[in-house]
Amino acid sequence: MPTYNPPLRDMQFVLHEVLQVSEELKAMPAHAETDADTLNAVLEEAGKFAAEVTFPLNISGDTEGCVLDKKTHEVTTPAGFKDAYAKYVEGGWAALSCDPQYGGQGLPFVVNQCVYEMLNSANQAWTMYPGLSHGAYEALVAHGTDAQKKTYLPKLTSGEWTGTMCLTEPHCGTDLGLLRTKAEPQADGTYKLTGSKIFISAGEHDLTENIIHLVLARLPDAPKGSKGISLFVVPKFMVNEDGSLGARNPIFCTGLEHKMGIHGNATAQISLDGAVGTLVGEPNKGLAAMFVMMNAARLGVGNQSLGLTEVAFQNALAYAKDRIQMRSLSGPKAKDKDADPIIVHPDVRKMLLTAKAYAEGGRALQIFCTLLLDKEHNHPDEKVRKDSGELVALLTPIVKAFITDNGHISTNACMQVFGGHGFIKEWGMEQFVRDNRINMIYEGTNTIQSLDLLGRKVLGNNGASLKKFGKLVARLVEEEGVNEKMAEFINPIAGLGDQLTKFTTEIGFKGFQNPDEVGAAAVDYLRVAGHFVFGYLFARMAQVALREIAAGNTDPFYVAKLQTARFYFAKLFPETATLMRTARAGSKVLMDTDAALA
Ligand SMILES: Cc1cc2nc3c(=O)[nH]c(=O)nc-3n(C[C@H](O)[C@H](O)[C@H](O)COP(=O)(O)OP(=O)(O)OC[C@H]3O[C@@H](n4cnc5c(N)ncnc54)[C@H](O)[C@@H]3O)c2cc1C
Repeated sequence: MPTYNPPLRDMQFVLHEVLQVSEELKAMPAHAETDADTLNAVLEEAGKFAAEVTFPLNISGDTEGCVLDKKTHEVTTPAGFKDAYAKYVEGGWAALSCDPQYGGQGLPFVVNQCVYEMLNSANQAWTMYPGLSHGAYEALVAHGTDAQKKTYLPKLTSGEWTGTMCLTEPHCGTDLGLLRTKAEPQADGTYKLTGSKIFISAGEHDLTENIIHLVLARLPDAPKGSKGISLFVVPKFMVNEDGSLGARNPIFCTGLEHKMGIHGNATAQISLDGAVGTLVGEPNKGLAAMFVMMNAARLGVGNQSLGLTEVAFQNALAYAKDRIQMRSLSGPKAKDKDADPIIVHPDVRKMLLTAKAYAEGGRALQIFCTLLLDKEHNHPDEKVRKDSGELVALLTPIVKAFITDNGHISTNACMQVFGGHGFIKEWGMEQFVRDNRINMIYEGTNTIQSLDLLGRKVLGNNGASLKKFGKLVARLVEEEGVNEKMAEFINPIAGLGDQLTKFTTEIGFKGFQNPDEVGAAAVDYLRVAGHFVFGYLFARMAQVALREIAAGNTDPFYVAKLQTARFYFAKLFPETATLMRTARAGSKVLMDTDAALA
């Protein structure tokens, strides 16, 4: 059976020692009172909740899955899920970073981020029920009417109701412009929605008395394509004036998908048979409104893979110290045993360190990015808000795709550490691989994230946002450029920064002549950009570790951090050279292959 220990020390390192989060929060009136002790206390309690309440339900939830009663359209979640959710609501966890005006605790997003990393490690499938509500909450805060806010936000804040996002239809996933669900205006100002949605996460369940669906649909006179999509809020049960539940709205779960992983989460086929909804935001501007939810969800999906990378690493490490097979190539290490523990073998170490580096780099990036989100929303200086928002937009596809791809590499490597036992269900490792796999697909596949990064966020503004990030790197290079001890961390990022500028210009130029060049380079480009960001963060982490060691701090944490950073720069970061080479190989070798694919 797997185990899980919340990585509180590493979180605190990134929060307090690398990013000085409490100092940053002091500058924001809404969070000025949130000091390091408060953050640490919340994370400690959240860690207990994850390890003691939801983690024990991870394997059983995977085995049992969800069950649909086709007559009532009701879904039963795996045993224990409902009780765990009740404890989550009772503990006030749903309200953590929601606005106090809706009953929230008003804590910064950066705390919620760390809480959710632990929940995802413990049980991704369970965590998706409350997780999706955050996006629905944010979309309604940004675009809801006063009446919608009053009706839905307090209950989403408390967690008494959950939210969903209903975009996908059988014939339309990536290309939402194709969607067909219709919304007919009614005399009373509401709309009746008719259509079919598929793959709706947490689309039906027994955890809460009401479910609030955010649904994309078309008005009768809507233009074709993505400019004719509107957003509606459609509750499972209508809500009366006094807040009590009214009639059952005809939005029904008609089937559950049988899938590779996240079995404990209900992936629902949803039928809307004249379901009553109200418009969110302006007609035909639904995609823009939904993007509030989608952006939040993209950061959340990166966090899912971060959680799985961490828990897979912890278990693979424990196993590698315990399992004995063969002798070390450089002579026996555990002479009292019949063989050495497998951790002595270089390749086993490589697999473990890969997962460790991707967990620590991913954590640093997630916290870095969420702190920017806090600044975007709450910093008093308009320029800081604007710059932070721009960086969050740039980093969002990297968080989503780079961390989930790394999660794939890491959970597989950790399963491999177990040899044949990794493939066997009881160890729990194959579940981490299966659960992680969807993270590369939903919320826009990782290819779509790459196109978003290269096409819109980099070339779309002539590299302005990338330059903004580049300035942070340049500042660090300037600060540490003469420090010999930092050379092994600074030189690679300084070098990649120069190469990335040339590489971007080159693709931009080729793409101008032939847009397929952008499509052919995008996935490789995102990985290079991901390493640029990770490299910067690892250099900052190494900087802190070196300072502490130089000051005489003997905590082995800092030595470990340095060794992980060294491994990262020596063994993972250099793939950027190959990636740039394959990207430069261009689109012709792909697009002139009709005979090969015939
Ligand atoms: C378990 C699960 C949960 C989900 N949860 C939700 C949910 O809660 N709400 C919701 O609305 N949806 C949800 N989805 C749907 C999910 O977001 C979509 O499956 C995903 O966006 C991809 O759409 P698709 O499956 O239609 O694939 P397609 O759009 O058909 O794509 C197929 C392939 O073509 C590629 N492709 C498509 N267009 C391009 C392009 N322009 N350039 C390059 N490559 C391209 C894709 O990257 C992909 O590899 C869920 C799906 C699953 C499996």
